[in-house]
Amino acid sequence: MAHNFDDSALATRAIHAGQEPDAATGAVVPPIYMTSTFKQDGVGKMRGGYDYSRSVNPTRDVFDAQLAAVEGAQYAVALSSGLAAIDVLLRSTLQPGDSILLGDDVYGGTYRLLSKVFVPWGIHLEVVDVTDLDAVRSKLSERHFAVVWVETPSNPLLRITDIWATASLAHEFGTKIVVDNTFASPVLQHPLDDGADAVVYSTTKYIGGHSDVVGGAILLNDPQVYEKVTFLQNAAGAVPSPFDSWLTTRGLKTLDMRVKRHSANALALAQHLENAPQIERVLYPGLESHPGHDIAARQMHGGFGGVLSVQLKDGLEAAKTFVSRTKVFTLAESLGGVESLIEHPAAMTHASVSGTALQVPDNLVRLSVGIESVDDLIEDIDQALDLRS
Ligand SMILES: *Cc1c(COP(=O)(O)O)cnc(C)c1O
Repeated sequence: MAHNFDDSALATRAIHAGQEPDAATGAVVPPIYMTSTFKQDGVGKMRGGYDYSRSVNPTRDVFDAQLAAVEGAQYAVALSSGLAAIDVLLRSTLQPGDSILLGDDVYGGTYRLLSKVFVPWGIHLEVVDVTDLDAVRSKLSERHFAVVWVETPSNPLLRITDIWATASLAHEFGTKIVVDNTFASPVLQHPLDDGADAVVYSTTKYIGGHSDVVGGAILLNDPQVYEKVTFLQNAAGAVPSPFDSWLTTRGLKTLDMRVKRHSANALALAQHLENAPQIERVLYPGLESHPGHDIAARQMHGGFGGVLSVQLKDGLEAAKTFVSRTKVFTLAESLGGVESLIEHPAAMTHASVSGTALQVPDNLVRLSVGIESVDDLIEDIDQALDLRS
């Protein structure tokens, strides 16, 4: 239920926001300021406020401005990884004794950070099926939670949470809602406009888009939280390098086009796989058979994303064989790059949640559908699924 967001200008903002040609030379692409420190014209007389690159760097500034414009947010803060973004946002806003309510299907590393670092640090953690509003209401009525954490579409089960409804519910209880928008990217989904208090990204994925850089970001409208986040980032140091900032800036310029192509390819593949005899179930929110399809159709704009998962009828061994036989799809963790990737979550990305409430089925295979020619992708999957030989 997005209200104010203007999708039509997103591609233009991605290319132009923060991208003023260099004042000294006219270079159309803003330069990479590969420097740790800046000359001062007398003690404390800095040029443009630049003193030291942990605190501030022009290449990072350019990326922050571009990202804030694309998201339609007041503030963007780029960090050294998606997990650094999650850590800095939560550590700068929570205190020992606070409680956090986490969706039961999230990136494995998010659960590991919360359960292995935040819990010993004094944070109370509970897990809930965040797609079930009654279950969320019941948790929120039991105790005060500072934050409810939502990933939609979720990783790796592609579950859909209604951001607007969950935000309204959380706010009734004085709870903030954070959305990890990595899978949808700012192209397809606008959580701040749907009532979220903050958005985080692993920019490693669609925003960078070329599997060549690790990064993260926090998007906000609240000036006080922005102040706390930038303070902790500078105090603790989780900054992206100027080169990483520049690479991600370059990726973001083509995000709109890429994500739409990722989505179209993924939908075609999902529809194809629904008819494959080796497949028990296809998990993709673009399919009408998906339980969250109606919410996704309302909440996502221009596609349903490039990730889909499948469960194989013949179980674990069939899943392992499948992922080892593809030729265009590369067996690798991560997602959101131009090239197609395939992986086995139970043994790879989600190995760290084995034995917890977040454990995933062992016949599950996750595909990050790239922007290659879709016929080649379908042909590759078909030959890999031929499990008889
Ligand atoms: C990859 C990922 C993260 C973590 O990001 P890094 O850049 O690897 O630290 C967080 N959330 C989601 C949904 C992800 O896919």
